[in-house]
Amino acid sequence: MNNSSYLQRCIACRAEFDLSARLYVCSHCGGLLDVDRREESGIDPSALRELWRARKSSLDARDRSGVWRFREFLPFADDAPIVSLGEGNTPLYDAPRSADYCRLAQLKLKHQGCNPTGSFKDTGMTVAVTQAQQLGARFVACASTGNTAASLAAYAARADLPCAIIVPGGQVSHAKLAQALDYGAKVLEIEGNFDVCMNVIRELSEDGAVYLVNSINPFRIEGQKTVAFELAEQLEWRVPDHLVLPGGNLGNSSAFGKGFRELLQSGLIERMPRITVVQAAGAAPFAHFYADADHSSFVNDEHPKTLASAIKIGAPVSWPKALRAVTETGGGVITVTEQEIADAKAVIGRDGIGCEPASATTVAGIQKLVADGVIQAHESVVAVLTGHLLKDTDYVMQYHNNSLVAPDNTHIAGNFANRPIRTSASRDALRKLLTADDTE
Ligand SMILES: [Zn+2]
Repeated sequence: MNNSSYLQRCIACRAEFDLSARLYVCSHCGGLLDVDRREESGIDPSALRELWRARKSSLDARDRSGVWRFREFLPFADDAPIVSLGEGNTPLYDAPRSADYCRLAQLKLKHQGCNPTGSFKDTGMTVAVTQAQQLGARFVACASTGNTAASLAAYAARADLPCAIIVPGGQVSHAKLAQALDYGAKVLEIEGNFDVCMNVIRELSEDGAVYLVNSINPFRIEGQKTVAFELAEQLEWRVPDHLVLPGGNLGNSSAFGKGFRELLQSGLIERMPRITVVQAAGAAPFAHFYADADHSSFVNDEHPKTLASAIKIGAPVSWPKALRAVTETGGGVITVTEQEIADAKAVIGRDGIGCEPASATTVAGIQKLVADGVIQAHESVVAVLTGHLLKDTDYVMQYHNNSLVAPDNTHIAGNFANRPIRTSASRDALRKLLTADDTE
């Protein structure tokens, strides 16, 4: 059951709708929807912190989930049946080599790639698929560059709900496609990019035939916002000066903004971190929009181009919410090149932390922000990694073999490449290689 003290509210015209209304945008003005509390709940911050900490030693499935552990902020009744794979509870790593690379005293990486299907999508999907069950949906669907597909396929399988996934043919990494196939989803490859997939699935969802769980669905954002809660808890409720995120469809930036806003309003934190979104230079409609001083009209990019396929999106549906998160926190939106993404990814790897290319926009972006004086060397910075290294190993192998080629056909140099070495199977040959001084 949904919790009756919540409703859906349009972020543009403030129209209100019941949680049971199967909407993705406002039926009056087409604006994005938030799930909000009807009124202040009278929260006691220290009691809540203690309750959430105590749940960490519980064996209840809801307490084991890093999302449902924070269910006081989720729009469901306390005993509602949930669809969970034990998502969340992801590590917050110190990354000293990445910090050096950025010329920072310290840098922490929140690795959302350590979720059950290897990406941040799981924290939102557990809530969206739970809501699908609440509504009695018979079919769930999404458009995807790969990670959402893998995540929805897994959660739909857990819920025993038929599921369809629309992906751009030939543009999704094999690893992500393999996940969706293994979890039993109906995978439909169409001609066209992600934005074409998104348009067609939105049309399909209008007549109620399928329940759409892309991040335009406000219940996805509700789940993803709990990552802000988990991060704040990991930092003993002292938020960092800066939070840096990759920007694709912009649901994640929206969710962090909402999460930190609710924490602040409830007295659980004292301020919000400055939220900066980093886009790939070839797929940067939000950055272009933001650079325009009066933020007048949002222009989609019809032909987004980047090897970071998870953020290869030219018409990000959640941009108004992401704009709210960036402006209210005094953050920003910047771009980084394909070369900068590839190098940053390899540097993150040297910290023993594996991420997919899109995630590395963060460290590439932080390096720029420090060089430009936007971030000071002593400030506290957290970057969010959104997907696991094993999501796209072709890219990694090509980088380390110095054969990676950008979408504009320029060569990406393997500046931090670590090439495999062919050698004869003799002890002497191996000993010579192992003791060789490779510092030159
Ligand atoms: Zn509206």
